[in-house]
Amino acid sequence: MVIKLSLIVPFYNEEAAISHFVNGILPVLDAMAGTEWEILCVDDGSSDDTLRKLISLSETDARFRVLELSRNFGKEAALTAGLDAASGDAVVIIDADLQDPPDMIPQMVRSWRDGAEVVLGRRIDRSSDSMLKRKTALWFYSLHNRLAHIRIPENVGDFRLMDRCVVEALKRLPERQRFMKGLFAWVGFRTVTLDYVRAPRAAGLTKFSGYSLWNFALEGFTSFSSAPIRLWTYLGTVGALLAILYALFIVFRTIVCGNPVPGYASLFVAIIFFSSVQIISIGMLGEYIGRIYMETKQRPIYVLRRTY
Ligand code: UDP
Ligand code: MG
Repeated sequence: MVIKLSLIVPFYNEEAAISHFVNGILPVLDAMAGTEWEILCVDDGSSDDTLRKLISLSETDARFRVLELSRNFGKEAALTAGLDAASGDAVVIIDADLQDPPDMIPQMVRSWRDGAEVVLGRRIDRSSDSMLKRKTALWFYSLHNRLAHIRIPENVGDFRLMDRCVVEALKRLPERQRFMKGLFAWVGFRTVTLDYVRAPRAAGLTKFSGYSLWNFALEGFTSFSSAPIRLWTYLGTVGALLAILYALFIVFRTIVCGNPVPGYASLFVAIIFFSSVQIISIGMLGEYIGRIYMETKQRPIYVLRRTY
């Protein structure tokens, strides 16, 4: 029986990488007997020649389908669009820049045929990423996994194979704020992990700046844990207890030693400290309220302009 597989590839201003991608991926797919592929290229509102190149690919090779989003919605939305459109018995998500090795796909499919429902690619060597990126990624995973109930596997990106049942489960998650790594982990299923070495980008530049990665990390924390707001309940309680103890101490001291009216400095410090704590906690609350607000609007996750 021929099985059908869907490859989902997000493209955002990747005109320089497209030819590398096609040359890298097609030999691998062609060599796999007994499989029929559809390659879903999601154009995430590119402003360069990406879309035109993808369309001409789809005209020469019927396996290529192009989903054109109406603007740049971000990688998470692009992946969601791909998952919604995929019709394969299993889907494979891969980056357009060949940082995820296509050679691993046959191995992933083999594991899937052996019964795995999710096959993850884990980066064992990230020396192609900068020191700062590796360090901050490490901190993110360890903090996230300590705070949240859902464990995100470390050094696992979006490169993975998922069975149809996993895709259907993902499609039932209605949230608008899509932290895909977390959603993937949340649905669970029988998982196998394969290791790979992360290659440098084939061409072009990374689309994620430090600031967007920071926002991405905030998204991760707030999507899967309420620990950041709960913290303030504990902090407030401890602060209040300390304040009561201090008040008792002042009463005691006034009775024993009289009142020499010192305390300007301690008052000043206490006011500044606790008002800052309040502002931080309001900000933290705001993070969650902002997200509730975005969810209640129920806007679609992406808008398709056309498919080719
Ligand atoms: N990407 C996207 N929309 C975006 C940003 C990135 O579809 O807004 C795609 C990009 O074209 C690439 C993949 O997501 O195929 C990974 O992006 P990138 O290589 O820049 O990320 P990095 O590997 O540096 O984490
Ligand atoms: Mg990349």
